[in-house]
Amino acid sequence: MKKYMLPLYIGIIALVITGCSDTKKNENETAMNNPLLAEWTGPYSGTPAFDKMQISDLQQAMEYAMEKHLEEIDAIANNPEAPTFENTLLAMEKAGSLFQRVSVYYGIWSSNMSSPEFREIQNILTPKIADYSSKISQNEALFQRIKTVYENSQSNPLPAEQQRVVDLTYQEFEMKGANLDAEGKKRYAEINKELSSLYNTFSNNVLHDEENYVTYLDENQLGGLSESFIASAKVAAEERGQTGKYAITNTRSSMDPFLTYSTERELREQVWRTYYSRGDNNDAYDNNDIIARILQLRHERVQLLGYDNFAQWRLQDRMAKKPENAMELMEIVWEASLKRVEEEVAEMQAIADAEGADFKIAPWDYRFYAEKVRLAKYDLNSDEVKQYLELNNLTDAIFYVADRLFNYQFTPITDGSVPVFHEDVKVWEVTDKTSGSHIGVFYLDTLARAGKRSGACATQYRTHANYEGKRTVLASNNSNFVKPAPGQPVLISWDDAETFFHEFGHALHFFSSQVTYPSLNGGVRDYTEFQSQLLERWLLTDEVINRYLKHYETGEVMPQELVQKIKNAATFNQGFATTEFLASALMDMLYHTTDPSGINPKEFEKEMLAKLQMPEEIVMRHRTPHFSHVFSSEGYATAYYGYLWADVLTSDAAEAFAEAPGGFYDQEWADKLVKYLFAPRNAMDPAEAYKLFRGREATIDALMRDRGFAPPKQ
Ligand SMILES: [Zn+2]
Repeated sequence: MKKYMLPLYIGIIALVITGCSDTKKNENETAMNNPLLAEWTGPYSGTPAFDKMQISDLQQAMEYAMEKHLEEIDAIANNPEAPTFENTLLAMEKAGSLFQRVSVYYGIWSSNMSSPEFREIQNILTPKIADYSSKISQNEALFQRIKTVYENSQSNPLPAEQQRVVDLTYQEFEMKGANLDAEGKKRYAEINKELSSLYNTFSNNVLHDEENYVTYLDENQLGGLSESFIASAKVAAEERGQTGKYAITNTRSSMDPFLTYSTERELREQVWRTYYSRGDNNDAYDNNDIIARILQLRHERVQLLGYDNFAQWRLQDRMAKKPENAMELMEIVWEASLKRVEEEVAEMQAIADAEGADFKIAPWDYRFYAEKVRLAKYDLNSDEVKQYLELNNLTDAIFYVADRLFNYQFTPITDGSVPVFHEDVKVWEVTDKTSGSHIGVFYLDTLARAGKRSGACATQYRTHANYEGKRTVLASNNSNFVKPAPGQPVLISWDDAETFFHEFGHALHFFSSQVTYPSLNGGVRDYTEFQSQLLERWLLTDEVINRYLKHYETGEVMPQELVQKIKNAATFNQGFATTEFLASALMDMLYHTTDPSGINPKEFEKEMLAKLQMPEEIVMRHRTPHFSHVFSSEGYATAYYGYLWADVLTSDAAEAFAEAPGGFYDQEWADKLVKYLFAPRNAMDPAEAYKLFRGREATIDALMRDRGFAPPKQ
């Protein structure tokens, strides 16, 4: 699933003060000369000095910037005047600008140009950043001021956007225990401390089992595997001192292709069992007791805050709002998904029977026979598709879509006035096509290189704000396409082209922000992937196909037959994909809505899946003992459903365009798209914003059609 990288400084973050007072003067002087701390200069209201980045300046710049932010926060907290929106909330919005600037450089080193030197500094800074952050969220005097403004606003409401800032800030502090009494706060902190070490142990155990359970094959056990897979398995074995053998490592990227292609059924079973037993081997690295303890501590913590369960606490600021809403959606899709699995299994069984197999399709057979079905029904030659997906054409295509929907114009900046951190990065000025007014700068870093984070992501170096004049946006898209030989085109896969559109959807979401206060740019976990997923749909519009999906040599437009094959393939194997995903998402929610005292995760997983009538041919995408989204941190605990939630909105919104008189380029719908789905960011409740766009709440019917499922019963 595609990653969206939140800028480091979104949310309320802060830092630690280092150094002694007698060295302060020196520190200040050095800081003044640190290029990472300098104001951004040049056109477009200034841009980061990516040409002046030296790793040796980073630690000092980060520490200094965090210290400055904490000083600003202290000044706000200790202001003798009575708390108001202006002297408290607005002042908080304004604070930390130095830290935001330095974080941009930190983010570049972390995501685009990592190195051993950087990782050393990162290890030093990570706990300091955590400290800084908690110094803000646990600042008692600050919270009392926020609370006063919040309480006053309950009888005297503020203008809508200010009220939203107050509500969200108050809620964020409240959710982190700011309202507890001294004893409650003490217990709350103890719980968090124990949890953070349990999260580490959990991840380390998973990592241990991924690294230490390797299946070694002999030369005569390679049936069905591709040459490139065999070559990398050989290297993987050599690296582990098993020269002459072939290693199937215990990771998804190794397991998945092996189960798809290997003709050795017994080995498929072995690799499958090894993979799905990570963290569940009854040894020193077994995660089951750790999970029970995590669930109990989370439960205790939210009970301190007065909630029934963790899910209820967590979902209050999500679009779903309540666990019941997320469960209801999942249960409807689950029913349809199970039916689809039955059909898929029947198709696969027919192929297996015809081949003379005398067994029933087992979980380790699913991928193998699904691939045979795919070849028979949807044969799509990915090399052929690639010839029509040339990167420069696709870049023109995203700009075309931005023009038609957002009225944006992208003009290349080639005079060197905007520094870049690598020669492969390209920059454009974004303007409004009609008025010519400046909107921002777009950075595009498409090619893979050592030190760059894998996958694709979108980020912003400067967010929109309007409380003291318009602050323009600096946004970037990053991907990892293989650098071609000089003069050769970059040809990418269909998946990569979709991701390219996806990340650009995030960028458009950044550029189109109309919020007044920076914190209202924040993402809502089950909503923030929706806009980007939606933009993927424009890749398959006739306008884009006919203008931009052209053969890189002949210029011929992608043939209709090929387009149709791509469309057909979209519903392939959706029973499997949806069921393995939903089993994990449902379990995530069940764990966090159940009283966990005395829970035995192993038993609980078994009982609940039996109750759900989990098909015996499929296993959870992430079984509990290695469900890192949920147990290696709090990031995705009771949030895994969010992918489906965003998918429902995506399908429902896409159907509005499909049915509009002007199709995907219908002007009226495009205006509503920008006005309600993109521009408000988090200045408006997402559910409300969606209703304004669609004229009704989202329904799941479109999602069911997109996945080839039977419509839900009325
Ligand atoms: Zn994304």
